[in-house]
Amino acid sequence: MAEITDKKLLKLITYAPASIVGAFTLLWVVLAVTDVLMGSHEKLLALKEEYQQRENQILTKQVEYVAQQVKFAREQTEQQLEDTIQSRIYEAHNIATRLYESNKHLPEAEVTKIITDALRDIRFNNGRGYFFIYKTEGLNVMHPLLPRVEGTSLWDFKDVRGSYIVREMGEQVKANGEAFYRWWFVKPDNKNKEFEKIGFGKYFEPYDWFIGTGDYVVDVEDDIKQTVLAWIKNLRFGQFGYVFVLDADGTILSHIDSSLIGQNALTLGSEINIEGVRDILQSDQQFVHHQAIYAPPGVSDFAKSSYILKEPKWEWRIGSGIYDENSQRFILERQQKTEEEQRKAVAQMITIGVITTLIVALFSLMMSKLIASRFERFQSKINSDFSQLQKTKDKLEHMALHDELTGLPNRSLLHEHINAGIERSRSQCQQLAVMFVDLDDFKKVNDLYGHSAGDRLLSEIGKKFEAFLQPDEFVARFGGDEFIFCFPELNNLAETEKKVELIKDVFKQQFVIDNKVLYASCSIGVSMFPTDGDEPEDLISKADIVLYKSKARQKGDVLFFDSTINQQVQYDFLLERELRGAIERGELSVVYQPQINAKTGKIYGVESLLRWHNPQLGHVSPLEFITLAEEIGLISELGEFVLERSCEEINKIFPDSDLALSVNISPMQLVNESFVTQLLSASAKHAMPPNRITLEITENVLINDLPKVTPIINQLKELGFTISLDDFGTGYSSLSYLSNLPLDELKIDRIFIDKMLNSEQSNSLVKAILAIAQSSEMRVVAEGVETQAQKDRLIEYGCDLLQGYFIERPLSANLLAQKYSNSVQ
Ligand code: C2E
Ligand code: CA
Ligand code: CA
Repeated sequence: MAEITDKKLLKLITYAPASIVGAFTLLWVVLAVTDVLMGSHEKLLALKEEYQQRENQILTKQVEYVAQQVKFAREQTEQQLEDTIQSRIYEAHNIATRLYESNKHLPEAEVTKIITDALRDIRFNNGRGYFFIYKTEGLNVMHPLLPRVEGTSLWDFKDVRGSYIVREMGEQVKANGEAFYRWWFVKPDNKNKEFEKIGFGKYFEPYDWFIGTGDYVVDVEDDIKQTVLAWIKNLRFGQFGYVFVLDADGTILSHIDSSLIGQNALTLGSEINIEGVRDILQSDQQFVHHQAIYAPPGVSDFAKSSYILKEPKWEWRIGSGIYDENSQRFILERQQKTEEEQRKAVAQMITIGVITTLIVALFSLMMSKLIASRFERFQSKINSDFSQLQKTKDKLEHMALHDELTGLPNRSLLHEHINAGIERSRSQCQQLAVMFVDLDDFKKVNDLYGHSAGDRLLSEIGKKFEAFLQPDEFVARFGGDEFIFCFPELNNLAETEKKVELIKDVFKQQFVIDNKVLYASCSIGVSMFPTDGDEPEDLISKADIVLYKSKARQKGDVLFFDSTINQQVQYDFLLERELRGAIERGELSVVYQPQINAKTGKIYGVESLLRWHNPQLGHVSPLEFITLAEEIGLISELGEFVLERSCEEINKIFPDSDLALSVNISPMQLVNESFVTQLLSASAKHAMPPNRITLEITENVLINDLPKVTPIINQLKELGFTISLDDFGTGYSSLSYLSNLPLDELKIDRIFIDKMLNSEQSNSLVKAILAIAQSSEMRVVAEGVETQAQKDRLIEYGCDLLQGYFIERPLSANLLAQKYSNSVQ
């Protein structure tokens, strides 16, 4: 499952990023292309709009420009008229003046004739203009159009509105030298209407004349109109742009097509054309979409959009337009061009997009592959690390559960196996044996042959143990030289004993280690399910107890757990528990057994003996609790108590005497570092000088640990204490070492005193001891003197001091004081 997931993950890592990147890039391309397409459509619309606007703007500008020009020209009419007639008059005046100057010697009439001849036929303003001359008092001198009035006075001549034209003009000219003058007059071809005329006159002084001329304003205006229309007709904007002008009636005044000029547009073309003309004629200033009557070459559709401006005074409609076909063609061209550009852009985009997609996807794929391969490498590394780790873990587990030296399971697997065995045995109604095996004197093997040999021996033994085991059976190294067997499914004691034999058989063989032949033996404690318990812990501890007991009894022994042993164990536990608090609770006391001088019968000293009375246990023998205290490390405390208490009490009862105090010193107490200090302190504190104190040390201790004990005894001796060898005779060793120790006293064990009268062996031993002591100047104490006969024999043999029930039982301090305080001084 996990592998599939990993593979999928790997595939995902390899392809997903590339696919995603590719897809996104493609999406981007599609979006970009769509954007371009949409954009181009909008662009086209905008283009159309913009084009229309621009065209309209151009049209507006063009038409406005033309209208401006028209207005300007119109406004110039009168000015132009005035300028023209003035300059004409100046010319005429010049001519007259020159002619006069060159002919003034002639009579006035002759000069007049010369001048009038010169001026009479001059025409201007399209033939309308001519000069006239009057004397200022009204006499006409020259009138080219009405020669009959020449020589007559027109002093009273009035215009249609009643102004005295000649009179007024003459007065003004004479007064100012020259003057413009206006009046109203009918036209020769139109007598029904009055037209404004402008005249100009200049005073010709030599003959009191004024030379004048005049013209109808309307005629000049017409001239200007023609000029303007001609200009408009030739006006071109771009290729097709032209301006047309209609008057208020629809008459075409100016047009690119000259043939149309003068025709009324309302009469040309079909109804749709006329409709357009009407629209034009109705507009003051606006765009008109209409069907034109004319189209320039290359344009087939006459529909057009024109901007029309009304010339307010002349009521002209000035217009310029653009043909739909032209603008459409332009837009179409632009559209095609845009589309082409767009096609190119899209193609370019797609190309770039595809290439980008490919590159990006490829790159992404490469990166992903790289990452995936890394991932794979890491994975395989992790896997190998894991298997390494697993191996290490297995190894550690094995190490944790097995003993390194023998390769046997260690105690941690023990419970499990015993439990399993119990289950099996229970279901079969069978028994199970837990056997606690301890090698005897294994310490000696280590001491004699070295630790590595010891280890090899253990390993060999382990192998041999394993060799005889049945499938369901089990052996573990419990620690040190201890092994525990578990034999399940046993039917009877005989089968159990067979198993014991198998174990013992191992030790019947010899072991060859480092080319040395070694023998080993073991003690075995056995506990049984269900009789002794049904819990592994219980069975193990019971097997341990009987092992301990069997060892104490005899090494190499096998002991089965039973209820007496159990009771003993319970008692031992109680004893131990109670002993631990005994000093604090004041349950301990010291009694004193006197020693007397064999010769004089006088008290020589006392031996202090510890007593323990416990509410539960009653009186406990020191033989019992001293051993226990040694085992549980309480002996130093007890020893100190005895020293303190006995020194104190004896000094109290026998102050300043030389009565000796013998104190039993346990071997463990002796080797304790603080022992000498304790001893000196008690001695000093209770004024018991060292020479009054005898230290009783058992023979066994001395022999067992001579190298360690000798310097201590030497020190004690030097400090002035008396050294006594207690229980003398019970040790197996020769007496040779005695000479090496600074002993003062030998205390013959009471076994020999007890037997000396009946056993020749004991008797001779007592004699021998006394002989040795006498030769090495040692004092001899006989303890356990119970009869007169014993006393007599000991005195006979020359024993120094006697101690025993026959002499005196151990006494409390009070009794001792009562009995002996007087006999000691
Ligand atoms: P031990 O040092 O050999 O002490 C002499 C033992 O013999 C004492 O027993 C004493 O009561 C007993 N005894 C004396 N005269 C006779 C007699 O005529 N007949 C018989 N059958 N017994 C006699 P106790 O007091 O029970 O002490 C037993 C042992 O306990 C002592 O043997 C000694 O080894 C140890 N012990 C007693 N008190 C102390 C002590 O304060 N410190 C140490 N380390 N050991 C002590
Ligand atoms: Ca003693
Ligand atoms: Ca003794």
